[in-house]
Amino acid sequence: MHDLVIRNALIVDGIGTARYVSDLAVSGGRIAAIARNPGPARETIEADGLVLAPGIIDGHTHYDAQLTWDPYVDPSPAHGVTTTVIGNCGFTIAPCRPADRDLTMRNLTHVEGMSLEALRRGIVWDFESFPGYLDMLARRGVGPNVAAFVGHSSLRTYVMGADAAQRRASDDDVARMQRLVREAMAAGAVGFATSTSESHNGEAGIPMPSRLADAREMQALVSAMGESGRGVFMLTRGSATSIPAIEALAAACGRPTLVAAMFYNHLEPESVFTLNGEMRAARTRGHNVIPQVSCCPVTMEFTLQSPYVFESLPAWAPAMAAHGEALKQLYADPKFRAAVKDDIARRRGLLFKGEWDKLHVVVTADPAHRALEGKSIAELAAGANQDALDWFLDFGLEENLGTLFTGVLVNSDERGVGRLIADPDNHVALSDAGAHLTFFCDVGFGLYLLGHWARDLGVITVEEAVRRLTGQPAAIFGIRDRGRLAPGAAADLLLFDPATVGRTKARRVNDLPAGAARLVTTPVGVHGVWVNGERVADHTGLIAGGKTPGRVLREFAS
Ligand SMILES: [Zn+2]
Repeated sequence: MHDLVIRNALIVDGIGTARYVSDLAVSGGRIAAIARNPGPARETIEADGLVLAPGIIDGHTHYDAQLTWDPYVDPSPAHGVTTTVIGNCGFTIAPCRPADRDLTMRNLTHVEGMSLEALRRGIVWDFESFPGYLDMLARRGVGPNVAAFVGHSSLRTYVMGADAAQRRASDDDVARMQRLVREAMAAGAVGFATSTSESHNGEAGIPMPSRLADAREMQALVSAMGESGRGVFMLTRGSATSIPAIEALAAACGRPTLVAAMFYNHLEPESVFTLNGEMRAARTRGHNVIPQVSCCPVTMEFTLQSPYVFESLPAWAPAMAAHGEALKQLYADPKFRAAVKDDIARRRGLLFKGEWDKLHVVVTADPAHRALEGKSIAELAAGANQDALDWFLDFGLEENLGTLFTGVLVNSDERGVGRLIADPDNHVALSDAGAHLTFFCDVGFGLYLLGHWARDLGVITVEEAVRRLTGQPAAIFGIRDRGRLAPGAAADLLLFDPATVGRTKARRVNDLPAGAARLVTTPVGVHGVWVNGERVADHTGLIAGGKTPGRVLREFAS
């Protein structure tokens, strides 16, 4: 007797096979058969033409903290995600000494836009080492499956304390970090993650520790990972990190190397394709350097209290260290404004490059300004006959920094983004789920790929979209028995209606620890999500009911 049979499903298997109609049987958390009339079952679901696919593997999340208070990492499972990869960019919460916990949380608050109150109330600090963190997750239970990177910035802080964000590492520091990488790989890390990105700044705008690493340190740490014969090297690339330098690291570890965040920017239309081509050339030389791309326009909601979109502009640095009255004085300072204008003119930022027409007022603090809601900064500044930055900062000051703005920045030109997605080697990810919770919510990126890019625009087929969300990431991360529908594979399943699949627009809710706010979207067209054979979502959303069927994944292919 099977546990479950899903009848008359359009099987899309995750490895690119053309869809076909069949039944699929589940027993003991695994796929028992894909065949007509596979035998009796305790539960039968009539799929009646819905697509049955493997569950989505979300390769770029930041659920390290949320997992300790919310094992389901809502809202990912309802959006079809059955495996989540955490620790991206190297911003983890393990290893972490008790004395460094508050600094770690304050850094996460800044770099990943997480509410400090939510982190302080929410994180269960029931561990110190990386292996201890994985053990804690396994003990407490997880909703979806979890694969965890060991994170460079955390290693640096653990070994170097407050110096981690100040100086280069000594030979002794590097040797101690190498030991921690080996320990993490032995305990089941999916790889080693780091960042050199200018948009990654901790408390008071101080660069995150990994940004202080030199080539010698990077080489030593990726080599320590590679010694295990396993693991993925994950890097969020800053503008000074060249593809040849990354290729050298890929060669040093001999492992797949994921490079984030490859966005399309319409102001520099060829730059991402040049990088893409360099990575393709590296692969022909046997170095598996893979671009990590996003299928979502980068839309961010923000206030002038903490405007992440501007923080990679070098001249913005003093604003990250200032608060309250000091921040307002700075925004009013003509010297600060002149330096920011110069940075924008030279396109020095990673996210904002002067697209004032793509920044809009969403909600004004003062009801008397309601008429401005929905208008772009470009049009408002032109109407006032003012420079855009001056208008923007003057208005923000007038509203006591309370205005909610939105920016649709990079990755919004569909022809450019479509070209990135169409490249079959590119890894579609970058949901950043768990981070930047008040700026955007791309948890449903997989449903958006299936609905918008495959069905509506036809940039790729549904079979290819499913492969890119399942079989391909499983192969990159070395996740052996997931990411495809085949007898014997884990029963991580997504049942959806190809005619309606998608996600709604984001809306604001206040349900984090301490009542902190976040943006969420609602899945559309999802009929069922199963993790290891247990149903965790239906058409109404999450229905886990206290069960935690996920596994902490610790064994990866060599
Ligand atoms: Zn990230």
